[in-house]
Amino acid sequence: IKKVAVLTSGGDSPGMNAAIRSVVRTCAYHNIECVGVYRGYEGLIEGDFKSMDARSVKGIINKGGTILKSARSKEFRTVEGRQKAFKQLTDANVDGLVVVGGDGSFTGALIFNQEFDFPVMGIPGTIDNDIYGTSHTLGFDTALNTVVDAIDKIRDTASSHNRLFFVEVMGRDVGHIALNTGIAGGAEEILIPEEDLGLDRLVDSLNKSRKSGKTSSIVIVAEGDKIGKNIFELKDYVDENMEGYDVRVSVLGHMQRGGAPSCFDRVLASRMGVKAVESLLGGETNYMVGLLDNKVELTPLEKAIKGKSKINLELLRVSDIMST
Ligand code: ATP
Repeated sequence: IKKVAVLTSGGDSPGMNAAIRSVVRTCAYHNIECVGVYRGYEGLIEGDFKSMDARSVKGIINKGGTILKSARSKEFRTVEGRQKAFKQLTDANVDGLVVVGGDGSFTGALIFNQEFDFPVMGIPGTIDNDIYGTSHTLGFDTALNTVVDAIDKIRDTASSHNRLFFVEVMGRDVGHIALNTGIAGGAEEILIPEEDLGLDRLVDSLNKSRKSGKTSSIVIVAEGDKIGKNIFELKDYVDENMEGYDVRVSVLGHMQRGGAPSCFDRVLASRMGVKAVESLLGGETNYMVGLLDNKVELTPLEKAIKGKSKINLELLRVSDIMST
């Protein structure tokens, strides 16, 4: 391997810049060339490349988002699109590719490898932490801190007015953000996609905590929870079936994806970038770099794509006990 390309793809997450910096600097350390690809697979098809040296990534480790921009590319889903991408890479003498993104981006990378035998390596970047083969994806820790900060602020107003707040956080398929921030933010209930608490049990539990003397309550709701109502319908239902609370909704939305990456995400991104480039140099391909038992390890892309990221059952139990 003489020249590595790096791109960011799919939804952005804090820590992507730190990963780009790490890939670029690891290449410089090993005296090989590096190019940044703008706008994910779109830029790969169009040849939107920029040579990057160690100095070109200064001042970005602390920045959210991605300086290379991210995109979703329909054309990369077609053989013709991927053929164009292959030609752009070979014309630029690139012989290795690091993809920072989610499982969709990894699927694209794997298909690309299988068609053109082009070495690829994945780094998981998404706040949802929904990828198999790593305990933490890039941006997850930062998003947790952002959400906990928001919950703390909401609690101030909730307790001043005897309010019950439903706070919606990201997580369409998995409840990692909801479960962790619910525990850390002292939520009364946490609604996640993996579990259906049921409306009656929710109202029962909130009534109990009201009777036990609580003057405010916070319920954390993951986007993909299975209770069968959207958050506004849920609010109306609880409003009709409970007394004594002024019920409100707060949808945190895209603010969860932004902000300066936490120390944890910066260190993780730096470690993953080193491992990704050095694995390519060592002749490895079709792996995702992940954190397992605090060691940076490789998982085959195929497994990372097919595997399911599971909720930590011990955390579920802790959250149940904490809301007693
Ligand atoms: P996130 O879910 O966190 O937003 P992601 O990487 O899963 O991130 P997707 O939009 O699913 O995001 O995928 C990103 C890009 O990867 C797509 O726009 C597409 O270009 C490429 N891709 C996804 N699936 C395939 C596929 N089956 N074949 C080829 N390319 C694909």
